Amino acid sequence: MADKDEKPEGLTRRDALRVLGVSAGIAMIAPLSGCGGVWERQPVIPVDAWHKGVCRFCGTGCGMMIGVTDNKVVDVKGDEYAHNRGRLCIKGLMNREILYGEGRALYPMIRKNGKLERATWDEAMDLVATRFREAIDEYGPDSVAFYGSGQLYTQESYTANKLFKAGIGTNNMDGNPRLCMASAVTGYTSSFGKDEPAGCYEDMDYSDCFFITGSNTLECHPILWERMLDRKRSHPETRIIVVDPRRTFTAMHADLHLPIYPGTDVALYNSMMNEFIENGFIDRDMVENYLSFQEGKQKRTFEDLKKHVAQYPAERAAKICGISPRDIQEAAFTFASSKATLSIWTMGLNQQVQGTASNRGVVAMHLLTGHFGRPGATPFSLTGQPNACGGVRDTGSLSHALPGGRLVANATHREEMEDLWKVPRGRIGPKPGYHAVALFEAIAKGDVKCCLVMCTNPGQTLPNSNLYRKGMEKGFMVVADSFHPTETTIFADVVLPAAMWVEKEGVKGNAERRYHLYPKVVDPPGEARSDLDILVDFAERIGHGDLITAKTPKDVWDEWRHISAHSKYNFEGITYERLQKERGILWPCPTEDHPGTKRRYIPGEDPMAHGGGRFDFYGKPDGRATVWLDSHEEPVDPYTDEFPLIFNTGRILEHWHTMTITGPVPELQSIHPDYLEIHPHDAHHFNIREGDQVIVRSRRGEVELRAKLSLVVRPGMVFATMHSAKHLVNQVTHDVYDPFSKQPAYKRCAVSVRKKTV
Ligand code: SF4
Repeated sequence: MADKDEKPEGLTRRDALRVLGVSAGIAMIAPLSGCGGVWERQPVIPVDAWHKGVCRFCGTGCGMMIGVTDNKVVDVKGDEYAHNRGRLCIKGLMNREILYGEGRALYPMIRKNGKLERATWDEAMDLVATRFREAIDEYGPDSVAFYGSGQLYTQESYTANKLFKAGIGTNNMDGNPRLCMASAVTGYTSSFGKDEPAGCYEDMDYSDCFFITGSNTLECHPILWERMLDRKRSHPETRIIVVDPRRTFTAMHADLHLPIYPGTDVALYNSMMNEFIENGFIDRDMVENYLSFQEGKQKRTFEDLKKHVAQYPAERAAKICGISPRDIQEAAFTFASSKATLSIWTMGLNQQVQGTASNRGVVAMHLLTGHFGRPGATPFSLTGQPNACGGVRDTGSLSHALPGGRLVANATHREEMEDLWKVPRGRIGPKPGYHAVALFEAIAKGDVKCCLVMCTNPGQTLPNSNLYRKGMEKGFMVVADSFHPTETTIFADVVLPAAMWVEKEGVKGNAERRYHLYPKVVDPPGEARSDLDILVDFAERIGHGDLITAKTPKDVWDEWRHISAHSKYNFEGITYERLQKERGILWPCPTEDHPGTKRRYIPGEDPMAHGGGRFDFYGKPDGRATVWLDSHEEPVDPYTDEFPLIFNTGRILEHWHTMTITGPVPELQSIHPDYLEIHPHDAHHFNIREGDQVIVRSRRGEVELRAKLSLVVRPGMVFATMHSAKHLVNQVTHDVYDPFSKQPAYKRCAVSVRKKTV
């Protein structure tokens, strides 16, 4: 019997999950036609030519073949020579459909008398340049800003970063990766001195223990989940531990599930470290020769760490986390005693007030037990967007950062970039610009007058969104997007139609440091242009055409890879010619004959690592990775009698972010992510029945959702997806953020729930 909200036509949620093998317990993703007729693609037109490309969606970066006929993408299929071994998930298979759904932005628009009206490119770009120029002349360069995306191509983020920081002279350059992985960046940089994971996807083929924490991998990174299941199928002794407040589809497959309260990860990891020490699982060589210890600004020792984590015996941590002490002990034993443990995490860890501390807690567990730098043994953060790593993290396209892991607050780093970009010393300011939440606060206050938003939808994704949506009405907002209307273009003064995916060419870097090429194989619709073309045009009109001399994707890539040679991120050897031939290459890769680097910090394997020891943590002056002594902190938005439930948000398999791309796909329109998961005990207590419309209220706002009684959430917790524009859950979420990463804490706030009365 079909679920009430599922239409017979199109792909149902149950079908999609069955394709993933959830109901059968065996995953079968590709080829889709082999899934017992669960769902069949619409007939496709015969393909004239197949092109090697990459999926547009998540940070897994699956290789695919793209079939084109008459300037139209008519089919896609998994690339069996790429790391995903020919597999694609549901979203991957929809790459054809997303190009031709409704709502594509086709021509520039300018707001006149309160309404967006069609304009020419010249009119729109002249207006944008004039307004930015006027603001800069009158209020200085910090009165303008750029807000980008982990979905732009690397060439686009790099060009915007150079234009704003070295041309216009403002560090007001941030983007949506601040909302999704900034805590992973601060976790890595404070532990290793350099950002980005040390391992690679191939490690999943060698692990005996997967520690999945704060990640619903089955739904959010399904192809990597499949790879982990491959390992378990061939080596049934492989253990999967899942730490997640919800009993997600991922957790249902776990050998051990720890349903901790949101925001209690630090207590759990400290307790596990205590178990490692008490049971003799510490790698002494690692501790003595490759690690340092720190608490705040103070240097510490391993003896200090022992005392610190001894404050978290399993019984105490279990009370904080809301789980059993035995499960903590079992998780610690399984983690430490396996031959090779690999940890996976994503937003569940990153989107917390203690996001940085949670990230470095997982890293510390690997360093202390020696589960690092061997095949299958590594801490590994995943990313939700396809180019948050290669496009934003590596190019330093955030308000505090500069390319190749440099920081704007570091005078040497600024001078290095000023020399490489050939601008006068002193052009790059020493003060970090506004990070995401602070930027939209500054727009609301009138401190930032003009903002160029590219390829993202902050009107829907910012936490406590009512506040910032009001702000967007005040500033001069320019929004370049492939779709209109969105919850951001509705506030725009100028909308610029942008090409997407294979309507333009560029390079992206996935979660394992793999750069790969996205070819242009069809023309964009209407008058849409690539974001790179828009930026080059903007640079010329605003008087920085001399700075932005590289104007094509290949020329920008060549400039950027040569600049990378002046950093430990060196990928000068990844030429366009290699990208066209190969299935992506992992950096560091300093020369054209270098094969790329699977594991970092290992002398002999990583070309940046030196010496004859096991490791060279070259990002740190003393060559040692840092283990941090962090303490659990109580939640910022506590539950009370008035707000008695913990609200948590996340994603589902079939839809992407704010649904601007997947929402118009007919096959996905029968899947409605507009529900509130509530435990039957809580539903009974609040007199709520399945399907009731309910009002979820926090200290900031409220949202209406459809009740879905579910054992996936534990009593006292409710959950909604972030996807639906009709039900803006971020009216409820909290805009408090991690003090180091400035990443907002979407994963926990206090709410009340009541049945809607008509
Ligand atoms: S796992 Fe990610 S990259 Fe791979 S097909 Fe699915 S959405 Fe695309």
